Amino acid sequence: MLRLPPYQYHRPGSVAEAVALMAEHGDDAMYVSGGTDLVPNMKHRLFEPGHLIALKGIDELKGIEELPGENGDGGVLRIGAAETLTAVSAKPHVRELFPALAEAAAHVAGPQLRNAGTIGGNVCLDTRCTYYNQTHFWREALGFCLKKDGEVCHVTRTGKKCVAAHSADTPPVLMTLGASAVLTGPSGSREVLISEFFVADGIVNTRRATDEILTEIRIPLASATRRQAYMKLRQRKSIDFPLLTVAVAADLDENDAVRTIDGVVTGLGSRPRALSKWAEVAAGRTLDDALIDELSERAYKQCHPLENIIVDPEWRRAMVPVYVRRALEHVAGA
Ligand SMILES: Cc1cc2nc3c(=O)[nH]c(=O)nc-3n(C[C@H](O)[C@H](O)[C@H](O)COP(=O)(O)OP(=O)(O)OC[C@H]3O[C@@H](n4cnc5c(N)ncnc54)[C@H](O)[C@@H]3O)c2cc1C
Ligand code: SF4
Repeated sequence: MLRLPPYQYHRPGSVAEAVALMAEHGDDAMYVSGGTDLVPNMKHRLFEPGHLIALKGIDELKGIEELPGENGDGGVLRIGAAETLTAVSAKPHVRELFPALAEAAAHVAGPQLRNAGTIGGNVCLDTRCTYYNQTHFWREALGFCLKKDGEVCHVTRTGKKCVAAHSADTPPVLMTLGASAVLTGPSGSREVLISEFFVADGIVNTRRATDEILTEIRIPLASATRRQAYMKLRQRKSIDFPLLTVAVAADLDENDAVRTIDGVVTGLGSRPRALSKWAEVAAGRTLDDALIDELSERAYKQCHPLENIIVDPEWRRAMVPVYVRRALEHVAGA
């Protein structure tokens, strides 16, 4: 049996109190929401914080509601970071406005994990790798790796860069919807577009400072008019992390010609990847078989999975155009 290392559990009643606790305990503390990822990682001794600061009981981090726009813009759907994935996927408001987000939340892990896991934890999820998500005993036998306790990467075989995979389901959809994350820390709050939140570094792949709390997600209500799709490839449909996730959103005109289109893939590299030049290729054209083929082929050329997940990278690459095609067909209404 894998046991947790000893730690002190704090239950602050407000964001300000949580931030103050983090300032007090510094590098020896971590925030925890549902704990569905952090707790197994602690059992594997990937993290050994002496203090866990619980966020799930903080009322300010709850709620799913529309907020009016400021300075003439069209308003946002606010989703509190401590809302569970079950709540996000079941909320009629989310299902009507942003069906792809509801789908993505409904396909994270299994039902028990979605009841505990939160959208905030999903956006802040640690990267994953075959050589990292293992017990201390297993990693020690291999000599550890660059991301934790070692000096070499067993995937790239160099000591330069970690390429562990971003493996969360909701961020690709949030990117295609133009969503942003609100981060609150000791020096106040800031809003960061989800498309700018991630960096290509498997060791720490977000721009969130360790003392910042992700307090809410904001999705522009204007994005509700976009046609949306989300597709996920995984080994067992009942529970597994994605081997590949695809999100697509498009604006079509009254003749079904593409005005704008965005595609994002993840599960391959250290951050979700926006597929490039889609809008230029597709603008003004009907989303028919020929265009779908062209966009799927572009996605294939841009994606080069590595051996960071146990499943064969060439097979995962071959699946990229298949899942991109399915997502595009969904958007086209096929
Ligand atoms: C068997 C299994 C299968 C899984 N399958 C999937 C899957 O298919 N897709 C998927 O996306 N995930 C999957 N997960 C991972 C996890 O369950 C989800 O990503 C979940 O949404 C994490 O949320 P949480 O609230 O439990 O995060 P936690 O475990 O509490 O935290 C995760 C990380 O985020 C930080 N954090 C949490 N909340 C905040 C916040 N508000 N502000 C700042 N930092 C924060 C924590 O410090 C920690 O580093 C799986 C997990 C397991 C055990
Ligand atoms: S990609 Fe390399 S450094 Fe990163 S977790 Fe995997 S083996 Fe370790």
